[in-house]
Amino acid sequence: MNPDLVLVLDAAAFAAEKHRRQRRKDAEATPYINHPLVLATILAREGGVADADVIAAALLHDTVEDTETTPAELEVRFGTRVAGMVAEVTDDKLLPKAERKQLQIAHAPGKSHGAKLVKLADKIANLRDLAVSPPADWDQARKADYVRWAGEVVAGLRGTNPALEAAFDAAAAAII
Ligand code: NDP
Ligand code: ZN
Repeated sequence: MNPDLVLVLDAAAFAAEKHRRQRRKDAEATPYINHPLVLATILAREGGVADADVIAAALLHDTVEDTETTPAELEVRFGTRVAGMVAEVTDDKLLPKAERKQLQIAHAPGKSHGAKLVKLADKIANLRDLAVSPPADWDQARKADYVRWAGEVVAGLRGTNPALEAAFDAAAAAII
């Protein structure tokens, strides 16, 4: 038994179940689970990340924010470290959206190494989606606003993983 493989597969299955009724915002309404799977793949393949807790946190990163999943549920099933990283990348949905966006910028530098990796992969994945399968109703100006904001978040994550930071820059350059 390989505990890292079991953890990662369990996180993938848990996230698939939690996101089963959700779709991305692109014209084809891609199943939501594709997005966390993309983050995990970016981390492993492009970021050289071999820490199974970080890969699991990437798979779970939107479960608390976007489904009825609780932090306690993640802690029991995946442990304190994975649950902690997910909590670090979860926005407080009680706050107005503009404030949440500002807080992502302000809080980025103080996050743990693992949470920074997950955030980098999330922003890379979303910029790549913007380039090839953007939200159906976004014009160029809206995309440019998003790229600018993502760049401000990533500015606070730099010094974490050069390959991922370069991948972010390339994804941003492909849009603007
Ligand atoms: P967001 O800017 O939050 O939408 C982007 C998010 O949607 C991404 O971070 C990603 O989050 C998710 N997503 C789902 N599908 C895709 C996809 N195909 N491509 C890229 N991202 C995808 O949009 P909201 O509608 O929630 O608006 C929030 C903010 O935008 C507000 O602060 C508002 O003020 C501002 N706004 C700006 C406008 C403008 O023209 N500049 C117009 C209207 C609002 P995840 O990884 O979590 O799934
Ligand atoms: Zn995400």
